[in-house]
Amino acid sequence: MNSLQQDIKYLKGVGPARAKQLASELHIATLGDLLYTFPYKYIDRSEVLTIRDLQEDMPYVQLKGQIVDFSEEGVGRKRRIKAVFTDGTGYAELVWFAGLKYVRDTYKVNQPYLLLGKPVRFGGRFSFSHPELDRFDPDRPLPNQGLQPIYSIPERLKKTSFSSRTFTALVQHAFELLQRVPVEETLPAYLLETHALLPLDEALRTAHFPPNSAALPAALHRLKFEELFYLQLDILRYTRNRRMKSDGYVFRHVGEHFMRFFNERLPFELTGAQKRVIREIRQDMRTGRQMNRLLQGDVGSGKTMVALMTCLLAIDNGFQACIMAPTEILAEQHLATIRDQLGPLPVRVELLTGIVKGVRRRDVLAGVADGSVQILVGTHALIEPTVRFLNLGLCVIDEQHRFGVKQRAQLWMKNVQPPHILVMTATPIPRTLAMTVYGDLDVSVIDELPPGRKPIQTVHYYENTRSRLFEGVKYQLELGRQVYFVFPLIQESEKIDLQNLEQGYADISEAFPAYSVGKVHGKMKPAEKDEEMRRFIARETQILVSTTVIEVGVNVPNASVMVIWDAQRFGLSQLHQLRGRVGRGADQSYCVLVTKYELSQDTRRRIQIMVESTDGFEIAEEDLKLRGPGDLEGTQQSGMPFDLHVANIVRDAALMEEARTAAAEVLRQDPEENLPQNAVLWRELLRLKKEKINFSAIS
Ligand code: ADP
Ligand code: MG
Repeated sequence: MNSLQQDIKYLKGVGPARAKQLASELHIATLGDLLYTFPYKYIDRSEVLTIRDLQEDMPYVQLKGQIVDFSEEGVGRKRRIKAVFTDGTGYAELVWFAGLKYVRDTYKVNQPYLLLGKPVRFGGRFSFSHPELDRFDPDRPLPNQGLQPIYSIPERLKKTSFSSRTFTALVQHAFELLQRVPVEETLPAYLLETHALLPLDEALRTAHFPPNSAALPAALHRLKFEELFYLQLDILRYTRNRRMKSDGYVFRHVGEHFMRFFNERLPFELTGAQKRVIREIRQDMRTGRQMNRLLQGDVGSGKTMVALMTCLLAIDNGFQACIMAPTEILAEQHLATIRDQLGPLPVRVELLTGIVKGVRRRDVLAGVADGSVQILVGTHALIEPTVRFLNLGLCVIDEQHRFGVKQRAQLWMKNVQPPHILVMTATPIPRTLAMTVYGDLDVSVIDELPPGRKPIQTVHYYENTRSRLFEGVKYQLELGRQVYFVFPLIQESEKIDLQNLEQGYADISEAFPAYSVGKVHGKMKPAEKDEEMRRFIARETQILVSTTVIEVGVNVPNASVMVIWDAQRFGLSQLHQLRGRVGRGADQSYCVLVTKYELSQDTRRRIQIMVESTDGFEIAEEDLKLRGPGDLEGTQQSGMPFDLHVANIVRDAALMEEARTAAAEVLRQDPEENLPQNAVLWRELLRLKKEKINFSAIS
């Protein structure tokens, strides 16, 4: 047995009760789990300062000295203990607000203490609240304590007097135990050498107890590499195996539907990027294995046309296709666009959403079952078991992040073999994240907008200059354009937000008496909402006041202004999505971000990025930096094969590439997984996978 797999309950200082707590609160069951729980920060204890050297804004410091006086102040809950501490170079004040009995019983005057705490200047003197005090022997040199690890301990554990110090002691015991049975190496020697990595045992010890801050980076580097390497190895191996296994329908020829459409109906010249993506898709479909492709393209880049032409390929090869959209209004829009673009071509396209009912529904379902419906457009109603295709060969999923992994998996059941899957998203996923989270999907990118688009101009206004803003809006309305006003909605305070929206609606209606104003929000019935959207699309209303329900996909090319109220309350990706609702026609479009006057630094940065950039990928990268990957839409649901403890997929992007290359090389050299030098590696991968068995493929 690997030494790290030893049960935590045999560790000194852990009994059955503690073991249970560790398991439930920190997911620690083995020594390995313990040692792979890393400090979230360190306090430098390699130096002892003097009171004379203290300065404002210092982090935790150490002092050596004694207490010369205690005093107690206040009554009841305001009661506190103060002490005067000196090291011969000056005086500092110590304060305790809680645990007073412990302080009284433990600390004595005129005894040597090593103090650890954060100095705060208070009047003319430095003060330490709740410092740590340790007795020491003044006749012996202080041991170098290096950096002191600080672990994050959940509140529930803290209440049972389990502190970061308790945790530190456990880690120490674990390393003592492992003195006899050292930690087994998890990477082959040749990888350690070529990538200049520390051995695991040393890296682990240093990560918990670095002798000084200079020693830390090499240890973390080794641990991060290991994590990312196994992550990539697993993903690449999974992808390879899937490619070998899952058969797909072969779309061998380009036939009449595709060609007639191309020659007679194509309303514009395809962009280079659209052509390239269609080529990539055709390539996939010829191979005889199932396509699983993610199509990323910024808002307005023309993904729908790619979807339609892919559907025509399916039809040419005797298959049906379906297109799934996240909302009814979008599904209807797709249907209308597609019917319009196909014109007189003999292709039967039908709609299936929740509001298609009765005879109509039966008729569509019958057509789907007998194969006469060739393209079925709809919402998630498509995945219901009552929808039986005669021969489904392709499924296009629009705006991917609204669909969960499970829903996608149900599509696989719709035919004998899984249909080809094309997932389209306008939420650009940075490369580093895509290759991890969507590691088993092939990625195509439309990185070019149709010609003639004028980049949207984005400006920032403060609330108090709104009359100027309204003038600009009026000018656009007079030109015959339409305008969106978006108000934020935060779930916790929906009521207040609706008030905001109502107030905004009233103000705007009053400011533009000559125009009709529509209103959409999430609390409306879907039918009402759709009706309002329809009125806007039909230009019956010129202004649409709404919450973020319009975020995804709607296409109203005549709308040229997007005003986002309280823009400070939106994330970058969301702002970008909203902005993408305009600039869809040939006119110059505008996005106005309205904020209050006082903004946090983060918000300022977000607004600045929006004003400066219209590049969705750049914005997504920035968003990821500001928010961290956990927040990115679509990442939680897909999950990763292993949890990362030390590495960060954004900050450690370069290392991830290195690890990926190394993993690919291993797979190339050892496809049978039987080279002796790699034995350790396959064993470790298996162990990691057992630990986390529920990694499921993304679609
Ligand atoms: P999205 O990628 O956001 O789904 P759409 O497919 O809705 O974008 O396309 C946005 C608009 O651009 C539509 O009106 C569409 O007809 C138009 N469009 C798409 N491709 C081209 C092209 N190659 N040339 C000109 N216009 C195009
Ligand atoms: Mg779209």
